[in-house]
Amino acid sequence: SNGRPQISASFGNEMLDARLSGDGAPEQGGSTVSITVVGASGDLAKKKIFPALFALFYEDCLPEHFTVFGYARSKMSDEELRTMISRTLTCRIDKRENCGDKMEHFLQRCFYQSGQYNSEEGFAELDRKLKEKEAGKVPNRLFYLSIPPNIFVDVVRSASRTASSSSGWTRFIVEKPFGRDSESSGELTRSLKKYLAEEQIFRIDHYLGKELVENLSVLRFSNLVFEPLWSRNYIRNVQLIFSEDFGTEGRGGYFDNYGIIRDIMQNHLLQILALFAMETPVSLDAEDIRNEKVKVLRSMRQLKLEDVVVGQYKGHSKGGKSYPGYADDPTVPKGSITPTFAAAALFIDNARAEIRVQFRRVPGNLYRRNIGTDLDKATNELVLRVQPDEAIYLKINNKVPGLGMRLDRSNLNLLYSERYHGEIPDAYERLLLDAIEGERRLFIRSDELDAAWAIFTPVLRELEEKRVAPELYPYGSRGPVGAHYLAANYNVRWG
Ligand code: NDP
Repeated sequence: SNGRPQISASFGNEMLDARLSGDGAPEQGGSTVSITVVGASGDLAKKKIFPALFALFYEDCLPEHFTVFGYARSKMSDEELRTMISRTLTCRIDKRENCGDKMEHFLQRCFYQSGQYNSEEGFAELDRKLKEKEAGKVPNRLFYLSIPPNIFVDVVRSASRTASSSSGWTRFIVEKPFGRDSESSGELTRSLKKYLAEEQIFRIDHYLGKELVENLSVLRFSNLVFEPLWSRNYIRNVQLIFSEDFGTEGRGGYFDNYGIIRDIMQNHLLQILALFAMETPVSLDAEDIRNEKVKVLRSMRQLKLEDVVVGQYKGHSKGGKSYPGYADDPTVPKGSITPTFAAAALFIDNARAEIRVQFRRVPGNLYRRNIGTDLDKATNELVLRVQPDEAIYLKINNKVPGLGMRLDRSNLNLLYSERYHGEIPDAYERLLLDAIEGERRLFIRSDELDAAWAIFTPVLRELEEKRVAPELYPYGSRGPVGAHYLAANYNVRWG
């Protein structure tokens, strides 16, 4: 997931106003929030979580009284943690405004506790330190589990027993992967619920915090022009395309265990699909939105093997440079058949159709002679580009100016960088702020997770049992030819 999300300055400000004045606004004076990043020595913590917390502090979005703790096994002093964090903090909002001072203030609120992940004593020690900082205020506690999934339950067990808030709320943010199929995901949910109520669990899918994904619902539900067309009567197919322009680069060990379907499709893309295809929710309340998402997921057919194409990239030379294949990565086990590419045709059996929205042909198009030979190419297409270069554009047929009557395809184009000049918050900032404020709209409920796994688990099992060999495709290309055949089966133009 390269590139950055984007913002519309006006929506951003309205949201901020709503947050500060609404029910979820941080209480002043009487309460405090302690945010503990478990796995603080790790990659995600350094790259995303501490910088997002600093950005929220910088924008005055954190409650007045807050403390940040890092927890991991590595031995570190508070000062060493601060030095480590300070390397990745950036003053991206306004570089001129006392950034150095703000950083220093933020770092002074950061502390570190070393301990084992399954150790009640370790978290009891953390609890003692937290209490010192909380100094008689109502203590609210947020734990961010930025650790490998095999130790999620250890941490939740120990931390919930010895470091839960006595009178405020205690919440846990959990990162993917949430299991590797229906069974293991169900098992993880059951284990977490031994110690936590569902309302305490915030399953993060950072795609839901991206600006254009947030804007998807705004686009659909606040513009009269789109909603009537959002149906199978007018839309021929919808394509959700995720591409990365780099390889595993040494992280093959992690990836090989999951593959692209588990890593991207079952979570990020399916979440976007659910938002794209859900019915209008009764309100913007988290439960109303999540109810609608779960309905879409439940009305999707289980994915069948014949509707999937898997691929794996091979080495490729271009312009005198050579790029290694997936199997050339020394951290990837020899003979791995883990897919780095997958295309799947998914079906939703509800009244709606199936984020590249290809509309149908205009029936009896008056201008077919002027369009040229390929009428399919002249259909309208609505594109939401989530990242990079965030944009929304609608491909329309337009008359080429002049005396003749020739049509071409032009874009009605909303390129964010031209229209909005404010900086865009990182997805993690939005999601952390939501978790602090108890806003669950962008987090995944356990029944959503079950429904999402139910779609993919049988095919994942079949791929593994039959050892389906991925089709090779060159590094940096758009995938194997099989994807085009799959698309053609359903009368769809691919990409
Ligand atoms: P890391 O592998 O960097 O692990 C985080 C910390 O956990 C380490 O610093 C280490 O701390 C501890 N740790 C690592 N391996 C083990 C182990 N086998 N047993 C016990 N503790 C261990 O993970 P990331 O920071 O990359 O990711 C954290 C979580 O977020 C994971 O669940 C990952 O799947 C998820 N994620 C990560 C993304 C990323 O961009 N990195 C993106 C999306 C999700 P110490 O040794 O000090 O205790």
